Amino acid sequence: MTLVAAAATSASVFAQDKVLNIYSARHYQTDEVMYNTFTKTTGIRINRVDADDAGIVARLKAEGAASPADVVLLVDAARLALADSQGLFQPIRSAKLDAAIPAHLRAPATPAGVTWTGFSTRARVIVYDPLRVKAADVATYEQLADPKLKGMVCTRSGSHPYNLSLFATMVDRLGDERGEAWLKGVVANMARAPKGGDTDQIKAVASGECAVALTNTYYAARLLKSDKREDKTIMEKVRVVFPNQGTSGTHVNIAGAAVARHAKHTDAAVQFMEYLASPFAQDYFANGNNEYPTAKGVVVDNPALKAMGGDGFKSDQISLGVVAKHMTKVQQMLDRVGYR
Ligand code: FE
Repeated sequence: MTLVAAAATSASVFAQDKVLNIYSARHYQTDEVMYNTFTKTTGIRINRVDADDAGIVARLKAEGAASPADVVLLVDAARLALADSQGLFQPIRSAKLDAAIPAHLRAPATPAGVTWTGFSTRARVIVYDPLRVKAADVATYEQLADPKLKGMVCTRSGSHPYNLSLFATMVDRLGDERGEAWLKGVVANMARAPKGGDTDQIKAVASGECAVALTNTYYAARLLKSDKREDKTIMEKVRVVFPNQGTSGTHVNIAGAAVARHAKHTDAAVQFMEYLASPFAQDYFANGNNEYPTAKGVVVDNPALKAMGGDGFKSDQISLGVVAKHMTKVQQMLDRVGYR
């Protein structure tokens, strides 16, 4: 074998080296098993860049066509939709994903395929103080604007993706005029200006500063699972309601993934997305953050989620694609009604 041929051979071996580059905004201990098992079964080595959602989007933009990213993991439909609208993803076709994941938890399908796919869901629930509020008065999101709750409601910033996504589904259902009136009503009911994260809202209900708040289920689950006495006390003082059980169902959002626009290992990227829909990976992906699996027929056992009473709750089946459609409009509504 000549030197040239040897060099050519090793170069082609290197090119075929099975690698997958993942940019991830999710980092939980349990994820390691999920990644390692993928590598063991496929021989595809995973390089991971961990950053927060904003950091990943900024990095993808800065790197442009030179980006090594193959798969992008982000949290919340609003963030996925925004990154999608900025051309950071590419549509893929996968019969396995089409069969496994409900269409309303994915980006709208186009002839070219689907960009982002949700691999876990979290419900946006209402937490309330049973000493001040009756369950019947917080049974729906619509009631958050009822004057009955004046001075009682706490939320994080209206512009936070978790709220933007919920509000987009509300505006889609109520229409623009009634949707904006609802937002205005929520602002009128606030106990304080929006601040903090979801856990802070739960704490504020427990401390009596607020009587009603919005939170994602996994924050409540974390407090339920906490070893700290103070966290347990917080959850003993509040009640959790899965809203709109008699109507549209409780709003759920997703953590999801997409193949990066300039992916160099597209086949491996699609393979990894399909792996995330498998029962094995679903268990780690969902349970790692106390979330619910998205793949049809997959059930995970999570005592904290069960304790919250949401087992088998009715979830809103609206396509999360509406989030993308209404995001700018909802942000303008928030500005008009003074929802900071
Ligand atoms: Fe969160």
